[in-house]
Amino acid sequence: MTEADMDLLKRYKREIEYCTFCPRLCRFVCPTALAEDNETYTPTSKMTLVYLAEIASARPEEVKKAFYMCVDCKHCMTPCIHKIDVPKVLIAARAKAFRSGIADDNVKRFADALEKYDHPYSRIMGDNLKEVVDAGHRTRPAVADTEPSAAPGGTQAGPAPTVDGGKERVLYFPGCTALRFDKELVKDAMGLLSRLGIRTDIMDEPLCCGYPGYASGNMDWFMKVASRMKQVLDGYDTVVSTCPTCITTFRTLYHRHGIDIKARPVHMLEYIAPAVRPLLDGRKKEDTTAAYHDPCHLGRHLGVYDVPREIIDRLYERRVELLWNRDDANCCGGGGAVPLTLPGTSGKIARKRMGEFRSTGADVLLTACPSCVRWLQKADGDAKVMDITRVLIDRLAE
Ligand code: SF4
Ligand code: SF4
Repeated sequence: MTEADMDLLKRYKREIEYCTFCPRLCRFVCPTALAEDNETYTPTSKMTLVYLAEIASARPEEVKKAFYMCVDCKHCMTPCIHKIDVPKVLIAARAKAFRSGIADDNVKRFADALEKYDHPYSRIMGDNLKEVVDAGHRTRPAVADTEPSAAPGGTQAGPAPTVDGGKERVLYFPGCTALRFDKELVKDAMGLLSRLGIRTDIMDEPLCCGYPGYASGNMDWFMKVASRMKQVLDGYDTVVSTCPTCITTFRTLYHRHGIDIKARPVHMLEYIAPAVRPLLDGRKKEDTTAAYHDPCHLGRHLGVYDVPREIIDRLYERRVELLWNRDDANCCGGGGAVPLTLPGTSGKIARKRMGEFRSTGADVLLTACPSCVRWLQKADGDAKVMDITRVLIDRLAE
């Protein structure tokens, strides 16, 4: 981040001024403001605090908590007639706090861990990845910081031929949350892709997409891993993941930060939908009722609402909507590094969403994001929360 980038009032003048002087159409949807029941954390108040900090009328170290009170859900953009991207500005304010040495203490500790491992979790990630690779999946080497762009292809079995008569090269990117907490999903998702005739590589190192660094304001680390990822992703036509946050990061955040990749980032469900439809047609549906939670990164960030619902309708006899759904869906509380900086707020948001699910009377809550599954399940251990990809894998194995 350069000095010019640090001047948020120049960089985001329109956004900051619109929100500061706005009639606040978005204030009733912001999950952090609602969870904390605090006017300070409505989008307009948070943006006003950025404004005041920028014009030196508020001390950043005294108002910085508000910068972290955002789960990057973009829900405020739904009612906003100006379509102001509030989280983009708040995360830039976090980046400025990080650069100035006044970041949240948990963010500072987290930065050390990111630097040590190049991902948000401990060395268990490497052990889990080894298990996936040992299960027979092809690997593709990660690229060191200083190396020039490497030629594409698996180290163990050569380039990855895939669909379209072997023309398309596909990288399966597990995402840190799935690899850390649900390695069986990673193994089985690659197995499903293989069964569908889509041969994929997986990287032989658990390198992160960079989102945890971005969301916590650690932009130097984000840019470092994004540059390494670009060298890998430029060797592929498509990168597929069950994690919509990784896909959003590859598709939107990299471009916003000047990193354009060759691979087309696609969420797993969107990618496999054409191939699984014929396999599900005519199969007996499960005679239970499912509800669907739209992950913020799949819905509002990527605009994918129909594909998951359509797949659910092929798997279950009945589907019900949560009261807040599609571009008005409430967040699970797990985004924007809020579980790191404000875990209590994050938990309140997740419990509220699970309350919405309970009030539907549905038997199972389905979603399409490993972080949503983890966070929502944690909020209500007695509920059944599942990733649609997992349900598909199990159903197609019957
Ligand atoms: S996000 Fe839109 S509606 Fe909300 S305060 Fe800003 S300008 Fe107003
Ligand atoms: S992105 Fe979500 S949490 Fe952040 S200000 Fe907007 S509504 Fe609130």
